[in-house]
Amino acid sequence: MTDRASLTDTVPGRYWHHLDDGRIQCDVCPRFCKLNDGQRGLCFVRARQGDQMVLTTWGRSSGFCIDPIEKKPLNHFLPGTPILSFGTAGCNLTCKFCQNYEISKAREMDKLSSLATPEMIAKTAKAHGCSAVAFTYNDPVIFLEYAVDVAIACREMGLRTVAVTAGYIGDKARAEFFRHMDAANVDLKGFTDRFYHQLCSAHLDDVLETLKYLRHETGVWMELTNLVIPGENDGDAEFHEMTQWVHNELGPDVPMHFSAFHPDWKMMDTPRTPPETLVRARKIAMDNGMRYAYVGNVHDKTHSSTFCHGCGDILIGRDWYQLSDWNLDAHGACRSCGTHCAGVFQAKPGTWGPKRQPVRLMASN
Ligand code: SF4
Repeated sequence: MTDRASLTDTVPGRYWHHLDDGRIQCDVCPRFCKLNDGQRGLCFVRARQGDQMVLTTWGRSSGFCIDPIEKKPLNHFLPGTPILSFGTAGCNLTCKFCQNYEISKAREMDKLSSLATPEMIAKTAKAHGCSAVAFTYNDPVIFLEYAVDVAIACREMGLRTVAVTAGYIGDKARAEFFRHMDAANVDLKGFTDRFYHQLCSAHLDDVLETLKYLRHETGVWMELTNLVIPGENDGDAEFHEMTQWVHNELGPDVPMHFSAFHPDWKMMDTPRTPPETLVRARKIAMDNGMRYAYVGNVHDKTHSSTFCHGCGDILIGRDWYQLSDWNLDAHGACRSCGTHCAGVFQAKPGTWGPKRQPVRLMASN
């Protein structure tokens, strides 16, 4: 890895090939954009320049914040610890309900005001006592080369790496990208191709392939988020089908977060998700054998806490991002009955709490 930001924001891209008709096809994600010289892909940050694909936003960020790791959301990965979070610009999906559209739909590069080399990011996270760095706000798949360089710098300083992603990534790029990640929260946005096609211009099957890959071919800790949107993906049959698939294909230990939608971007006329819908989704998941299912984006300790699947005692009390009870031993087992809780735990929980703290990056030397 080299510190290239002093040279240019544009670096050679990986995962593309020439087509017989003279165009170049990007293979980073299943959108497979086919480009003539000078054109950008749908994600906007990858482009064809001359005879190659490039990433145009290496070393540029749309801002940094220290968040509770529960905000990613991750409930079983270093609970209570702070995580340095950042994103860039652009996205490879077109979700009409995007809750981060100012970043994901950004078309002006002045949104990317912060110079952010991998070394600066790792050093800043370390200095603030963060357990990890999160690639979030927009999908890190589209800035793969930059994300990988940041991840390498983080691991060299003993920091973990977390990807927050829709999992819409090509098979070759997927292997490299996730090799550098310790944990991932993957959006499972719905469980019908209609939903993915009409609301995100994507396909469900490609996401399911990524989930199976992560679970069975990597050691990446994975949790799933389903943003529940009234009238779009909130039917009992869809919750049943989704959670049965997750149980059968990924196993019962993958935590599932059913999160509340708020009106945003192109879905301003859709109402907020009623909390009871989230509780219903969680119940269906648990009835289908999932051990850890949560409601999200609401205050509800009963349905946001972690319970032992052996004896039913509370293991981690949680209300939104605030932890309370802690009933795990130093090895991540229930103190009441000894049953192991799936996840990555320290002997004690972190004490960061629910606060968000914007930060400025430190110089790398
Ligand atoms: S990563 Fe960007 S350029 Fe490449 S296929 Fe996906 S949307 Fe197109």
